[in-house]
Amino acid sequence: MKQTHVCIIGAGPGGSTAALQLAKAGISCTLLDKAVFPRDKICGDALSGKVVSELRRIQEDFLPAIHTHTESLPSQGIHFIAPNEKWLSISFKSSGSSFTSSTTNSVEYSGFSPGYLMRRMDFDNFLIEQVKKNPLIDFREGVEVTDYQKTETGWIITASNQQSIETKLLIVANGAQSNFTRHIAGITTEPKHFCAGLRTYYEGVAGLDPNGFIELHFLKPFLPGYFWIFPLANGYANVGVGMLSDTISKQKINLKKSMQELIQTHPALQKRFANAKLQGEIKGYGLPLGSKRRKLSGDGYMLVGDAAHLIDPFTGEGISNAMISGRWAADQAVKCIQKQVYSGDFLAGYDQAVYRRLGNELRISTRMQRLLAYPSLFNMVVNRANRNPALKQLLSSMFNDIDLRSSLRSPTFYARLLFQ
Ligand SMILES: Cc1cc2nc3c(=O)[nH]c(=O)nc-3n(C[C@H](O)[C@H](O)[C@H](O)COP(=O)(O)OP(=O)(O)OC[C@H]3O[C@@H](n4cnc5c(N)ncnc54)[C@H](O)[C@@H]3O)c2cc1C
Repeated sequence: MKQTHVCIIGAGPGGSTAALQLAKAGISCTLLDKAVFPRDKICGDALSGKVVSELRRIQEDFLPAIHTHTESLPSQGIHFIAPNEKWLSISFKSSGSSFTSSTTNSVEYSGFSPGYLMRRMDFDNFLIEQVKKNPLIDFREGVEVTDYQKTETGWIITASNQQSIETKLLIVANGAQSNFTRHIAGITTEPKHFCAGLRTYYEGVAGLDPNGFIELHFLKPFLPGYFWIFPLANGYANVGVGMLSDTISKQKINLKKSMQELIQTHPALQKRFANAKLQGEIKGYGLPLGSKRRKLSGDGYMLVGDAAHLIDPFTGEGISNAMISGRWAADQAVKCIQKQVYSGDFLAGYDQAVYRRLGNELRISTRMQRLLAYPSLFNMVVNRANRNPALKQLLSSMFNDIDLRSSLRSPTFYARLLFQ
C-alpha cells in the first residue's frame, strides 16, 4: 500500500493548485483523478481577474504562458443585458494602471489582460502539464477513488483499480458531485444554494465583442440566473444558461428547451445565431453555490473548490475560488506536517483562512443574487449608468474593490440612484 502525508482527490483547478502550492513548499503529495487529461469540464470557460492573480501567485511564468496560448482569448470586460434588454458595458480595467490594495479583488498586471477565455479542456490541461513536470507530485490519472476509511492516524482510500493509499491528510477537490462531501462531510445539496447550468459551443455567432467582453443576459425567464454568450479563440463561442435549482423545480422549467427556444425566437438573438453552427451537444452540470457558510474541514480532511460549495452565487464564477481554497488548503497542510497535528480543531484554521478571504465577497454576491428577484431595480441601475459616466465608472471599479461592491448591498445606494 502506498503511504503519503497528503493525498489530493481531483485534479481540476482546486486540486492541481493545492498540489503545486505544496510542491512550492517542498512537500510531496499524491494527486488522483478519475479522468485522463486533457478532459472536458462543463463550464463557461471565463477566467476572471482572480484566476489571473492566482496564476501569478503559483508561478511567475504561468500568466505569460496563458496569455500566449493559442487557445486563450483576452477578455476586457462584461456586457450586462438588463431584463429590459438595455446593455451596460463595464470594462474590467480600472481608471489607473497597476494597483493593489487590501480590498482589491484582482490586480492588473501590465502587458496582460485583466481576464481570459479559454476552454477548460485546455486550461485544466495547462495546469496538469505543470503538475506532470513537478517531481514532488505523484500524479495518477484514470484512477477513481471509490472508498474512504477513517483510521486512527488518517485515511485509507481505495480506488477503482483496487489500489489503496494510506494518508495522514486528505484534500478533497473532486468537484460538485463529491461523494465525500455528501456522505462523510455531511454537506447536502440544497436547491436554494445550488444552480443548474447548461453549456454548449457554437461557431460563427454574429456580433461577438472584438475585445472579448463576455455577455450576461439577465432575461426574465432565467432570473435569478442568466443566459450567456462568451467569445472564445478562433471564432467559437461558449453559450449557456444557469439558473437556481429551487426556481427550476418550483416553476417546472425545462432549461434545455427554454434555452433553445430563446436562441430560436428572441428577435435579437435569433439574428445573431442565424448562421451559427452548434458544435457537439448541450451538456448540463451543477454549481454548488457559496451562498451558505459550510464547515470545510474535519479530522484529517479539507474540502476545496466545488467540493466545498464555494461558487460565487451572483456570477457563477468558481475556478478562482477553487484555486484560492486549494492554495489555502496546501498552506494549512504544511502547518499540519510541521506540527504533526491533523485534528479537526487544528484544521479549522483552513476554514478561517478561506472565509477571511472569500466570506465578505460571497455575502455580497448572495445579496446581489437575491436582488435579481427585483428586475426593475436592475433595469434602473443600467438605465442610470448609461446616462451617468461617473456611475458607470463606479460600477466598473466595483469589480475590483470589495469595499465598493459592498455598497450594492445597501438600500441607500439604490435610493440615491433614484435622484441622479
Ligand atoms: C455550466 C457551468 C458554467 C460555469 N462557468 C464558469 C465560468 O465561466 N467561470 C468560472 O470561474 N467558473 C465557472 N463555473 C464553475 C467552475 O466550473 C467550477 O467552480 C470549477 O470547475 C471548480 O473547480 P474544482 O477543481 O473544484 O472542481 P472540478 O473542476 O470539477 O474538478 C474536479 C475533478 O475531480 C475529478 N473527480 C471527481 N470525482 C472523482 C473521484 N471519485 N476520484 C478521482 N477523481 C475524481 C474530476 O474528474 C475532476 O477532474 C461553471 C460551472 C458550470 C457547471
